[in-house]
Amino acid sequence: MSSVAYGSGTNTRAAGPVVDLRSDTVTRPTAAMRAAMAAAEVGDDVFDDDPTVHALQARIAGLLGKEAALFMPSGTASNLCALLTHGTRGDEYLVGQLAHCYRYEGGGGAVLGGLQPQPIAMRPDGTMDLADIAAAIKPDDEHFARTRLLCLENTWNGNVLPAGYVAEATALAHGRGLATHLDGARLFNAAVASGAAPADLARGFDTVSVCFSKGLGAPVGSALVGPADFIARARRWRKVTGGGMRQVGLLAAAALHALDHHVDRLADDHARARRLADGLSGLPGLTVTPPQTNIVFASVSGDRGPALLAHLAARGVLATGLIGLRFVTHLDVDDAGIDRAVAAVREFLLS
Ligand SMILES: *Cc1c(COP(=O)(O)O)cnc(C)c1O
Repeated sequence: MSSVAYGSGTNTRAAGPVVDLRSDTVTRPTAAMRAAMAAAEVGDDVFDDDPTVHALQARIAGLLGKEAALFMPSGTASNLCALLTHGTRGDEYLVGQLAHCYRYEGGGGAVLGGLQPQPIAMRPDGTMDLADIAAAIKPDDEHFARTRLLCLENTWNGNVLPAGYVAEATALAHGRGLATHLDGARLFNAAVASGAAPADLARGFDTVSVCFSKGLGAPVGSALVGPADFIARARRWRKVTGGGMRQVGLLAAAALHALDHHVDRLADDHARARRLADGLSGLPGLTVTPPQTNIVFASVSGDRGPALLAHLAARGVLATGLIGLRFVTHLDVDDAGIDRAVAAVREFLLS
Protein backbone atom coordinates (compact mmCIF):
# COMPACT_ATOMS: atom_id res chain seq x y z
CA MET A 1 0.00 0.00 0.00
CA SER A 2 1.18 3.51 -0.63
CA SER A 3 0.53 6.19 1.90
CA VAL A 4 -3.07 7.04 2.51
CA ALA A 5 -4.03 10.68 2.82
CA TYR A 6 -6.14 10.54 5.96
CA GLY A 7 -8.64 13.30 6.28
CA SER A 8 -7.84 14.66 2.85
CA GLY A 9 -10.87 16.67 1.96
CA THR A 10 -12.04 17.88 -1.37
CA ASN A 11 -13.96 20.96 -2.35
CA THR A 12 -15.28 19.33 -5.45
CA ARG A 13 -18.94 18.49 -5.12
CA ALA A 14 -21.13 17.10 -7.85
CA ALA A 15 -24.87 17.57 -7.98
CA GLY A 16 -26.77 14.74 -6.31
CA PRO A 17 -25.95 12.64 -3.30
CA VAL A 18 -22.27 12.15 -2.58
CA VAL A 19 -20.98 8.61 -2.16
CA ASP A 20 -18.40 9.24 0.52
CA LEU A 21 -15.96 6.32 0.64
CA ARG A 22 -13.11 8.29 2.25
CA SER A 23 -13.59 6.68 5.64
CA ASP A 24 -16.11 5.00 7.90
CA THR A 25 -15.73 8.04 10.16
CA VAL A 26 -17.95 10.15 7.89
CA THR A 27 -21.24 8.57 9.00
CA ARG A 28 -23.90 10.83 10.45
CA PRO A 29 -25.96 9.71 13.44
CA THR A 30 -29.24 8.09 12.41
CA ALA A 31 -32.58 9.47 13.59
CA ALA A 32 -32.86 6.59 16.09
CA MET A 33 -29.36 7.30 17.40
CA ARG A 34 -30.19 10.99 17.80
CA ALA A 35 -33.34 10.03 19.70
CA ALA A 36 -31.28 7.84 22.03
CA MET A 37 -28.88 10.72 22.58
CA ALA A 38 -31.70 13.15 23.32
CA ALA A 39 -33.19 10.77 25.86
CA ALA A 40 -29.89 9.99 27.64
CA GLU A 41 -29.65 10.44 31.38
CA VAL A 42 -26.50 12.41 32.08
CA GLY A 43 -24.28 13.63 34.90
CA ASP A 44 -20.82 15.12 35.26
CA ASP A 45 -18.46 12.36 34.14
CA VAL A 46 -15.39 14.04 35.63
CA PHE A 47 -17.19 13.53 38.97
CA ASP A 48 -17.87 9.98 37.68
CA ASP A 49 -21.57 10.82 37.90
CA ASP A 50 -22.83 10.00 34.42
CA PRO A 51 -25.05 6.90 34.46
CA THR A 52 -25.03 6.48 30.68
CA VAL A 53 -21.23 6.56 30.59
CA HIS A 54 -21.21 3.99 33.39
CA ALA A 55 -23.57 1.78 31.40
CA LEU A 56 -21.41 2.05 28.29
CA GLN A 57 -18.19 1.34 30.17
CA ALA A 58 -19.69 -1.74 31.83
CA ARG A 59 -21.11 -2.93 28.53
CA ILE A 60 -17.91 -2.64 26.52
CA ALA A 61 -15.75 -4.10 29.30
CA GLY A 62 -18.10 -7.08 29.45
CA LEU A 63 -18.14 -7.50 25.67
CA LEU A 64 -14.36 -7.61 25.60
CA GLY A 65 -14.02 -9.81 28.67
CA LYS A 66 -12.07 -7.22 30.69
CA GLU A 67 -12.60 -5.72 34.13
CA ALA A 68 -13.07 -2.06 33.35
CA ALA A 69 -13.38 0.53 30.61
CA LEU A 70 -13.02 4.25 30.14
CA PHE A 71 -14.93 6.35 27.62
CA MET A 72 -12.52 8.37 25.48
CA PRO A 73 -13.01 11.29 23.09
CA SER A 74 -11.14 9.57 20.23
CA GLY A 75 -9.15 6.52 19.27
CA THR A 76 -6.00 8.62 19.31
CA ALA A 77 -6.70 9.70 22.90
CA SER A 78 -7.42 6.11 23.85
CA ASN A 79 -4.17 4.75 22.39
CA LEU A 80 -2.23 7.69 23.84
CA CYS A 81 -3.59 7.18 27.36
CA ALA A 82 -2.85 3.47 27.00
CA LEU A 83 0.78 4.23 26.06
CA LEU A 84 1.17 6.78 28.86
CA THR A 85 -0.20 4.30 31.38
CA HIS A 86 1.81 1.30 30.13
CA GLY A 87 5.14 3.09 30.10
CA THR A 88 7.11 6.07 31.21
CA ARG A 89 10.04 8.23 30.05
CA GLY A 90 12.82 5.95 28.81
CA ASP A 91 10.50 3.04 28.09
CA GLU A 92 9.83 1.64 24.65
CA TYR A 93 6.92 0.06 22.78
CA LEU A 94 7.16 -2.35 19.87
CA VAL A 95 4.75 -1.51 17.08
CA GLY A 96 4.19 -2.13 13.39
CA GLN A 97 5.88 0.28 11.02
CA LEU A 98 2.49 1.13 9.49
CA ALA A 99 0.42 0.81 12.66
CA HIS A 100 -1.92 3.67 13.49
CA CYS A 101 -0.55 4.20 17.02
CA TYR A 102 2.95 4.67 15.62
CA ARG A 103 2.47 6.36 12.29
CA TYR A 104 -0.79 8.26 12.37
CA GLU A 105 -1.04 9.69 15.87
CA GLY A 106 1.51 12.47 15.77
CA GLY A 107 4.06 10.51 17.78
CA GLY A 108 2.04 11.23 20.93
CA GLY A 109 3.74 8.59 23.08
CA ALA A 110 7.12 10.20 22.36
CA VAL A 111 5.88 13.79 22.35
CA LEU A 112 4.01 13.59 25.64
CA GLY A 113 5.34 10.52 27.41
CA GLY A 114 9.02 10.22 26.51
CA LEU A 115 8.26 6.76 25.15
CA GLN A 116 10.43 5.50 22.33
CA PRO A 117 8.59 3.64 19.60
CA GLN A 118 10.42 0.67 18.07
CA PRO A 119 8.72 0.20 14.72
CA ILE A 120 8.89 -3.26 13.18
CA ALA A 121 8.40 -4.21 9.52
CA MET A 122 4.93 -5.50 8.72
CA ARG A 123 3.82 -8.12 6.24
CA PRO A 124 0.93 -7.34 3.89
CA ASP A 125 -1.53 -9.03 6.27
CA GLY A 126 -0.64 -6.72 9.15
CA THR A 127 1.48 -9.19 11.07
CA MET A 128 5.10 -8.75 12.15
CA ASP A 129 7.53 -11.65 12.05
CA LEU A 130 7.70 -13.10 15.58
CA ALA A 131 11.49 -13.38 15.22
CA ASP A 132 11.62 -9.63 14.50
CA ILE A 133 9.52 -8.94 17.59
CA ALA A 134 11.76 -11.16 19.73
CA ALA A 135 14.93 -9.56 18.33
CA ALA A 136 13.62 -6.06 19.05
CA ILE A 137 13.16 -6.73 22.78
CA LYS A 138 16.17 -5.06 24.35
CA PRO A 139 18.22 -6.63 27.15
CA ASP A 140 18.35 -4.86 30.51
CA ASP A 141 21.33 -2.67 29.75
CA GLU A 142 21.86 1.05 30.25
CA HIS A 143 22.43 1.49 26.52
CA PHE A 144 18.85 0.62 25.72
CA ALA A 145 15.39 1.91 26.34
CA ARG A 146 13.35 -0.47 28.51
CA THR A 147 11.10 -2.51 26.22
CA ARG A 148 7.71 -2.57 27.94
CA LEU A 149 4.92 -3.13 25.50
CA LEU A 150 3.86 -4.80 22.27
CA CYS A 151 1.08 -3.11 20.27
CA LEU A 152 -0.95 -4.90 17.60
CA GLU A 153 -3.79 -3.58 15.43
CA ASN A 154 -6.94 -5.50 14.39
CA THR A 155 -8.25 -4.96 11.80
CA TRP A 156 -5.20 -3.53 10.10
CA ASN A 157 -5.95 -1.98 6.71
CA GLY A 158 -9.15 -3.98 6.83
CA ASN A 159 -7.32 -7.28 7.41
CA VAL A 160 -8.29 -9.54 10.28
CA LEU A 161 -5.20 -10.72 12.16
CA PRO A 162 -4.96 -14.53 12.16
CA ALA A 163 -6.09 -15.80 15.58
CA GLY A 164 -3.15 -18.16 15.95
CA TYR A 165 -0.75 -15.31 15.24
CA VAL A 166 -2.31 -13.10 17.91
CA ALA A 167 -2.02 -15.93 20.46
CA GLU A 168 1.64 -16.52 19.60
CA ALA A 169 2.63 -12.86 19.52
CA THR A 170 0.95 -12.00 22.81
CA ALA A 171 2.38 -15.13 24.46
CA LEU A 172 5.84 -14.17 23.23
CA ALA A 173 5.44 -10.66 24.65
CA HIS A 174 4.14 -11.86 28.01
CA GLY A 175 6.85 -14.51 28.20
CA ARG A 176 9.45 -11.76 27.89
CA GLY A 177 7.80 -9.58 30.53
CA LEU A 178 6.09 -7.16 28.16
CA ALA A 179 2.52 -5.94 28.36
CA THR A 180 0.25 -6.08 25.29
CA HIS A 181 -2.10 -3.49 23.81
CA LEU A 182 -4.53 -3.95 20.94
CA ASP A 183 -5.57 -1.03 18.79
CA GLY A 184 -8.97 -2.46 17.97
CA ALA A 185 -10.44 0.64 16.35
CA ARG A 186 -12.31 -1.75 14.03
CA LEU A 187 -12.43 -4.76 16.35
CA PHE A 188 -16.14 -5.28 15.66
CA ASN A 189 -15.43 -5.52 11.94
CA ALA A 190 -12.90 -8.24 12.75
CA ALA A 191 -15.46 -10.00 14.96
CA VAL A 192 -18.22 -9.93 12.35
CA ALA A 193 -15.90 -10.98 9.51
CA SER A 194 -14.29 -13.86 11.40
CA GLY A 195 -17.27 -14.99 13.46
CA ALA A 196 -15.14 -14.72 16.61
CA ALA A 197 -16.58 -13.11 19.74
CA PRO A 198 -15.08 -9.70 20.56
CA ALA A 199 -13.81 -11.17 23.85
CA ASP A 200 -11.94 -13.85 21.90
CA LEU A 201 -10.25 -11.19 19.78
CA ALA A 202 -9.33 -9.29 22.95
CA ARG A 203 -7.85 -12.36 24.64
CA GLY A 204 -4.11 -12.15 25.12
CA PHE A 205 -4.19 -8.38 25.39
CA ASP A 206 -3.86 -6.52 28.67
CA THR A 207 -5.57 -3.48 27.17
CA VAL A 208 -7.72 -2.82 24.12
CA SER A 209 -8.89 0.37 22.45
CA VAL A 210 -12.08 0.30 20.37
CA CYS A 211 -13.75 3.07 18.34
CA PHE A 212 -17.49 3.74 18.24
CA SER A 213 -17.02 6.47 15.64
CA LYS A 214 -15.85 4.26 12.77
CA GLY A 215 -18.10 1.58 11.27
CA LEU A 216 -20.34 1.54 14.33
CA GLY A 217 -21.58 4.94 13.27
CA ALA A 218 -21.46 6.97 16.49
CA PRO A 219 -20.48 10.62 15.99
CA VAL A 220 -17.72 10.58 18.63
CA GLY A 221 -16.05 8.24 21.03
CA SER A 222 -13.80 5.32 21.80
CA ALA A 223 -13.14 3.18 24.82
CA LEU A 224 -10.00 1.93 26.52
CA VAL A 225 -10.58 -1.42 28.18
CA GLY A 226 -8.42 -3.39 30.61
CA PRO A 227 -7.73 -4.26 34.26
CA ALA A 228 -9.47 -2.03 36.83
CA ASP A 229 -6.24 -0.69 38.35
CA PHE A 230 -4.87 0.12 34.88
CA ILE A 231 -8.06 1.93 33.89
CA ALA A 232 -7.95 3.94 37.14
CA ARG A 233 -4.44 5.11 36.25
CA ALA A 234 -5.44 5.78 32.62
CA ARG A 235 -8.23 8.01 33.94
CA ARG A 236 -5.59 10.39 35.31
CA TRP A 237 -3.93 10.59 31.90
CA ARG A 238 -7.29 11.15 30.24
CA LYS A 239 -7.76 14.21 32.49
CA VAL A 240 -4.18 15.42 31.93
CA THR A 241 -4.57 15.19 28.16
CA GLY A 242 -7.81 17.14 28.24
CA GLY A 243 -10.15 14.23 27.70
CA GLY A 244 -12.19 14.56 30.89
CA MET A 245 -15.65 15.40 29.57
CA ARG A 246 -18.75 16.45 31.49
CA GLN A 247 -22.33 15.50 30.48
CA VAL A 248 -20.92 13.09 27.96
CA GLY A 249 -23.67 10.54 28.45
CA LEU A 250 -25.11 12.19 25.33
CA LEU A 251 -22.27 10.60 23.38
CA ALA A 252 -22.17 7.40 25.40
CA ALA A 253 -25.84 6.94 24.48
CA ALA A 254 -24.88 7.07 20.80
CA ALA A 255 -22.20 4.43 21.41
CA LEU A 256 -24.65 2.20 23.31
CA HIS A 257 -27.15 2.58 20.48
CA ALA A 258 -24.40 1.58 18.04
CA LEU A 259 -23.58 -1.54 20.06
CA ASP A 260 -27.28 -2.47 20.11
CA HIS A 261 -28.05 -1.80 16.45
CA HIS A 262 -24.94 -1.40 14.32
CA VAL A 263 -22.72 -4.41 15.02
CA ASP A 264 -24.40 -7.19 13.03
CA ARG A 265 -25.00 -4.87 10.11
CA LEU A 266 -21.23 -4.48 9.63
CA ALA A 267 -21.69 -7.61 7.50
CA ASP A 268 -23.53 -5.39 4.99
CA ASP A 269 -20.51 -3.08 4.80
CA HIS A 270 -18.27 -6.08 4.19
CA ALA A 271 -20.58 -7.35 1.45
CA ARG A 272 -20.55 -3.91 -0.18
CA ALA A 273 -16.76 -3.81 -0.05
CA ARG A 274 -16.74 -7.14 -1.91
CA ARG A 275 -19.32 -5.79 -4.37
CA LEU A 276 -17.04 -2.84 -5.01
CA ALA A 277 -13.92 -4.99 -5.36
CA ASP A 278 -15.73 -7.37 -7.73
CA GLY A 279 -16.94 -4.44 -9.82
CA LEU A 280 -13.43 -3.02 -10.06
CA SER A 281 -11.55 -6.23 -10.71
CA GLY A 282 -10.29 -6.87 -14.20
CA LEU A 283 -10.23 -3.21 -15.21
CA PRO A 284 -7.09 -2.25 -17.17
CA GLY A 285 -4.39 -0.59 -15.07
CA LEU A 286 -6.08 -1.35 -11.76
CA THR A 287 -5.00 -3.93 -9.20
CA VAL A 288 -7.62 -4.59 -6.55
CA THR A 289 -6.90 -6.30 -3.23
CA PRO A 290 -9.83 -8.54 -2.24
CA PRO A 291 -11.22 -7.06 1.01
CA GLN A 292 -11.72 -9.03 4.22
CA THR A 293 -13.85 -6.34 5.87
CA ASN A 294 -14.92 -2.83 4.85
CA ILE A 295 -11.78 -1.39 3.22
CA VAL A 296 -10.89 -1.85 -0.44
CA PHE A 297 -7.44 -0.96 -1.74
CA ALA A 298 -6.80 -0.58 -5.43
CA SER A 299 -3.59 0.59 -7.04
CA VAL A 300 -3.63 2.45 -10.34
CA SER A 301 -0.76 2.03 -12.75
CA GLY A 302 1.27 5.05 -13.73
CA ASP A 303 0.65 8.24 -11.81
CA ARG A 304 -3.05 8.40 -12.60
CA GLY A 305 -4.24 8.14 -9.00
CA PRO A 306 -4.85 11.86 -8.46
CA ALA A 307 -6.60 12.19 -11.84
CA LEU A 308 -8.82 9.23 -11.04
CA LEU A 309 -9.73 10.71 -7.64
CA ALA A 310 -10.57 14.04 -9.26
CA HIS A 311 -12.69 12.25 -11.88
CA LEU A 312 -14.55 10.43 -9.11
CA ALA A 313 -15.05 13.58 -7.05
CA ALA A 314 -16.54 15.37 -10.05
CA ARG A 315 -19.09 12.53 -10.18
CA GLY A 316 -19.84 12.70 -6.47
CA VAL A 317 -17.71 9.74 -5.42
CA LEU A 318 -15.10 10.45 -2.75
CA ALA A 319 -12.11 8.25 -1.93
CA THR A 320 -8.56 8.77 -0.65
CA GLY A 321 -5.07 7.75 -1.68
CA LEU A 322 -2.30 8.55 -4.11
CA ILE A 323 -1.20 5.45 -5.96
CA GLY A 324 -3.00 3.07 -3.66
CA LEU A 325 -6.59 4.22 -3.57
CA ARG A 326 -8.70 3.49 -0.53
CA PHE A 327 -12.48 3.00 -0.48
CA VAL A 328 -14.20 2.44 2.85
CA THR A 329 -17.80 1.23 3.12
CA HIS A 330 -20.06 2.19 6.03
CA LEU A 331 -23.67 2.64 7.04
CA ASP A 332 -24.26 5.72 4.91
CA VAL A 333 -23.37 3.88 1.67
CA ASP A 334 -25.88 1.64 -0.11
CA ASP A 335 -25.63 -0.72 -3.08
CA ALA A 336 -26.58 2.04 -5.49
CA GLY A 337 -23.69 4.14 -4.21
CA ILE A 338 -21.27 1.26 -4.73
CA ASP A 339 -22.56 0.83 -8.28
CA ARG A 340 -22.07 4.54 -8.95
CA ALA A 341 -18.51 4.29 -7.67
CA VAL A 342 -17.81 1.30 -9.92
CA ALA A 343 -19.34 3.04 -12.93
CA ALA A 344 -17.24 6.16 -12.35
CA VAL A 345 -13.98 4.19 -12.07
CA ARG A 346 -14.85 2.19 -15.21
CA GLU A 347 -15.62 5.36 -17.11
CA PHE A 348 -12.17 6.75 -16.24
CA LEU A 349 -10.19 3.61 -16.99
CA LEU A 350 -12.06 2.54 -20.12
CA SER A 351 -12.22 5.93 -21.85
C1 LIG B 1 -9.19 5.81 13.34
C2 LIG B 1 -8.18 4.97 14.01
C3 LIG B 1 -7.59 5.38 15.21
C4 LIG B 1 -7.81 6.75 15.80
O1 LIG B 1 -9.10 7.10 16.04
P1 LIG B 1 -9.54 8.66 16.04
O2 LIG B 1 -10.85 8.61 16.71
O3 LIG B 1 -9.59 9.06 14.60
O4 LIG B 1 -8.51 9.40 16.80
C5 LIG B 1 -6.69 4.54 15.82
N1 LIG B 1 -6.37 3.36 15.27
C6 LIG B 1 -6.91 2.93 14.13
C7 LIG B 1 -6.52 1.61 13.59
C8 LIG B 1 -7.83 3.72 13.45
O5 LIG B 1 -8.34 3.30 12.31
